[in-house]
Amino acid sequence: MSDPANPAPLVCGFCAKTQSEVKKLIAGHKGNICDECTTLCMSILAVEDLTRFGLMVAEALEYVAEQTKPENSN
Ligand SMILES: [Zn+2]
Repeated sequence: MSDPANPAPLVCGFCAKTQSEVKKLIAGHKGNICDECTTLCMSILAVEDLTRFGLMVAEALEYVAEQTKPENSN
C-alpha cells in the first residue's frame, strides 16, 4: 500500500492540508496537526477560558450587589 520510495505526504488530521501547504506541521503519535489548526484550537480554548472568567466576574458582581444592597430583605 505505502511506497517507501515515495511516502505519502504528511497531512494535518484536522484540515487535511499537506506539510507544504502550512507553515508548520506538528507530528503526533497517530496524527498530525498544522499551525493553523493549533491556532484555531488555542482560540477555542481561550474563548472557553474567557467565558468561564466572564461567568466568575458576573457571579462576583452579583455577590457584591447582594452584599451592598442598601436594604437587605433577610
Ligand atoms: Zn490543519
